[in-house]
Amino acid sequence: MRLAVLSDIHGNLAALEAVLSALAPFDAVWQLGDIVGYGPQPDEVIERLRAVGAQGVRGNHDSAAIGRIDVDWFNDDARAAVEWTAERLGPDGQRWLGELPERLVEGDFTLVHGSPRDPTWEYVYSTPIARACFMAFETPHCLVGHTHVPLVFREDDGRVEMLAPSDGSRLALDARRTILNPGSVGQPRDGDRRACGMVLDTDERTVEWRRVDYEVGTTQQRMREIGLPARLVERLGHGL
Ligand code: ZN
Repeated sequence: MRLAVLSDIHGNLAALEAVLSALAPFDAVWQLGDIVGYGPQPDEVIERLRAVGAQGVRGNHDSAAIGRIDVDWFNDDARAAVEWTAERLGPDGQRWLGELPERLVEGDFTLVHGSPRDPTWEYVYSTPIARACFMAFETPHCLVGHTHVPLVFREDDGRVEMLAPSDGSRLALDARRTILNPGSVGQPRDGDRRACGMVLDTDERTVEWRRVDYEVGTTQQRMREIGLPARLVERLGHGL
């Protein structure tokens, strides 16, 4: 089975459409949370994910947008975006987000937003954190998002190595356990503004990362019209 693995779409429909086209053909979509927040089209992104039958988990921004966690945990810009999203979200979208689990196990893969220790808040961005996280899931592999940076952590005989995949990077899944991050669709933060996604082929046992250009200006214009914070508009153009 060929899976499109997406994370941190953050209401950016133009980026989502570009990634879905670039990763096609695929049999199914897995998403790792933060479907909404920051971006201007939360309902449209939810509709698109429902249309492709995406399975996945809820992120911190999703939980905040439906009132499950306190917005005081967010910085000012993120909070402004969450508050706008909460007002804008239709009842169907709210219900759909509310029904998403925080953790999902599918075959050899555990899906979470942040980390298997703390699906809501923890960022897996270093080998010491990854080492501790390998003890917090049972499956051979774990899929995480939240950092908005594509990353791989691989456990090899007690050691943990970190790899930073770029466009076209491919990794064969062998007996070594991994924590895999597809990067962010809607708000990349590794200095490359192109949208990011991952293809997981469970028959070939490979993963491959893709970077995709999309019309950043379209999303930025919508954000300006809504009045979302200027810093959030600008960062999309820099990928930071
Ligand atoms: Zn996020």
